[in-house]
Amino acid sequence: MSGVDGKIVAITGASSGIGEAAARELARRGAAVVLGARRTDRLDALAESIRADGGRAEALDVDVTRRDDLDRLVARSVERFGRLDVLVANAGIARIAPVGDLDVDDWDAMIDVNLRGVLHGIAAALPVFREQGRGHLVTTVSTSGLKIVPGQAVYAGTKNAVRTALEALRQESTDGVLRTTSISPGFVRTELVDHVTDPEQRAQVQRTMSELGIAPEAVARAIAFAIEQPDDVEIGDLTIRPTTQG
Ligand code: NDP
Repeated sequence: MSGVDGKIVAITGASSGIGEAAARELARRGAAVVLGARRTDRLDALAESIRADGGRAEALDVDVTRRDDLDRLVARSVERFGRLDVLVANAGIARIAPVGDLDVDDWDAMIDVNLRGVLHGIAAALPVFREQGRGHLVTTVSTSGLKIVPGQAVYAGTKNAVRTALEALRQESTDGVLRTTSISPGFVRTELVDHVTDPEQRAQVQRTMSELGIAPEAVARAIAFAIEQPDDVEIGDLTIRPTTQG
């Protein structure tokens, strides 16, 4: 099966930014999308708007730190659309600050959402993929895991842990059932950095994002590119960043 049309795609973190853009892009190309996040008002509005444009979309309240919520997301895809072809494990938070500030609660929150949340998605989706004989895991990691910069150690660490888990899973799954893709965006103009706790860091990264950031639609197109490949072609790692990013 190649192309996006007709695929069933569940997306975490679909209420804004990259996840929302991916939902619109994939639905526009004929995928049925199952949207998960905590802000259900935004998810419902997005699903409604996709349906109004003739697409297929379902929305449900998902907190990726809760394993059961990922099980519900996968189950809903199968109940509503008969199967799950792709899980885009995209939900993430960036509480950027120097390690020495010892913001332990922020470290825990990033580990819970960015790492544990993706692992919960793998745990929920893999049994379904194995039963179906095929499936595709796409994760949104980051260029900050590729180039170490001050202030992003724990954030980058969670992203690199996901990259590592996916690569190990890929090597463990050479029977042709599973495709894995790690998308590494650079600066993208979204709400991500509005939640940075440290005011100085927040102002700095907000400036960088508004000056350099590319649109989330660019990452959405990269996600669609990975998904549209024929079953025997796996896009493993994709980096997508502003041309001017150092
Ligand atoms: P946004 O803040 O716009 O989106 C983050 C999404 O994650 C929201 O939909 C949010 O939904 C969801 N989310 C956060 N916590 C949870 C949770 N506990 N359970 C479920 N969903 C959750 O930022 P982006 O679109 O930029 O971020 C998307 C991904 O891209 C993240 O993983 C981020 O790390 C990654 N990324 C972003 C870059 C950028 O420059 N913007 C660069 C590199 C990677 P809600 O609050 O409604 O639950």
